[in-house]
Amino acid sequence: MKYCIIGAGAFGINFAYNLLNKGHKVELITDKLNSVSSIYARGISLDITPFDWIKNLYIKVNNYNYKWIFIWTILTYANSFYYIDYKKKAIYNSKKIIKSYNLNYDICGKKYFINLPDIFSKMINNMKMNTNFNLKIMSLSDEQISQMSTQYDIIFDCRGSNVKKNFYCENIGGYKFTIQADTTKKCFSLEDGWFLHTDVHKHKNLIVKGGYVFGATYYDQIINNKEEKNKMEKIITNKKFWNKYNCKKILEFRKGTRQYSIDMLPFYTRKNNIISIHGGSAVGAVLAPFVTTCIISEIILNKKISSYDFSEKRVRNHYYQSLKYCLYSIIVIILLKRTYKFGIKRHLGIKL
Ligand SMILES: Cc1cc2nc3c(=O)[nH]c(=O)nc-3n(C[C@H](O)[C@H](O)[C@H](O)COP(=O)(O)OP(=O)(O)OC[C@H]3O[C@@H](n4cnc5c(N)ncnc54)[C@H](O)[C@@H]3O)c2cc1C
Repeated sequence: MKYCIIGAGAFGINFAYNLLNKGHKVELITDKLNSVSSIYARGISLDITPFDWIKNLYIKVNNYNYKWIFIWTILTYANSFYYIDYKKKAIYNSKKIIKSYNLNYDICGKKYFINLPDIFSKMINNMKMNTNFNLKIMSLSDEQISQMSTQYDIIFDCRGSNVKKNFYCENIGGYKFTIQADTTKKCFSLEDGWFLHTDVHKHKNLIVKGGYVFGATYYDQIINNKEEKNKMEKIITNKKFWNKYNCKKILEFRKGTRQYSIDMLPFYTRKNNIISIHGGSAVGAVLAPFVTTCIISEIILNKKISSYDFSEKRVRNHYYQSLKYCLYSIIVIILLKRTYKFGIKRHLGIKL
């Protein structure tokens, strides 16, 4: 079988590697080998996020898609245990898959702190040695992808936040600051509303990442705009970690976008033989080995290997479930109000 993978982020690389290992012909087409996955993603938190950290999050809404944000908030809260359970199962399986490639998901202290750029470049170098593999560097539009469909058995569109937007998804931007510091910090941690870790290339420097910019329209860029730089500098230098890690100066301001699904789990849509991957969300890069293995098994081998459904049906069900939660909440509020008005007030002899 001949497959085409578009995009060399966590999903694209894992699809390509898995399919090549199964003996298929694979063409990987990407506009560049760097990705939001390789530039921003480094770890995963498996615990419930502390409220104190959430309180300090940097949030900006660009596109007024309040309906999506409202439903996402409800689902994130209502499904928090389901999501934590998913993360635990998916990281366990992803680690096993990566190990079978003779690579490693490293742990630092109690948290995963993973050198994803190193893992991706080793996977790409291994693939380049396989005669069934072909790498093309070029940018593709939705229209060009549709026109290519007759050339391959299946096309996997893994362009991250550049994949055609879906009703159940939202593009959410985030920041990355490289800070000149004098610190002995080693691991990945959640502090003051941001994710912090050491710069793997310069150990005394600190990397600070995070933030939620709803409706972001850029893929990845270095920030040169003075106004935006000043605003973000003020926010970062006022955080407790600035003094804690002896931070001196922000060396690089960067922003990139990931696509979130309404229930925080990735899913695929299918149009003929084109499979589009949506909603990598907060930890899509680290969990991509498990998700891609499940999708390949479901679509190509016609075999379900996990209890998680990565099709659009799952996310649609979760969407309607959240609407049901809203409706029930409204009914409960109305009933409570009526009970108070006609029951308690009458019982106490208060005039209605
Ligand atoms: C600030 C921030 C912090 C994050 N932290 C973490 C973390 O700690 N852990 C974690 O697991 N995840 C993290 N994520 C989320 C994670 O990055 C995403 O879930 C993940 O990158 C999604 O992977 P992807 O393969 O779908 O997309 P991407 O990594 O974006 O890859 C898309 C690929 O497609 C290519 N491409 C794009 N458009 C085109 C085109 N038109 N033609 C051809 N090629 C194209 C790109 O060059 C790229 O190679 C973070 C994201 C951000 C923004």
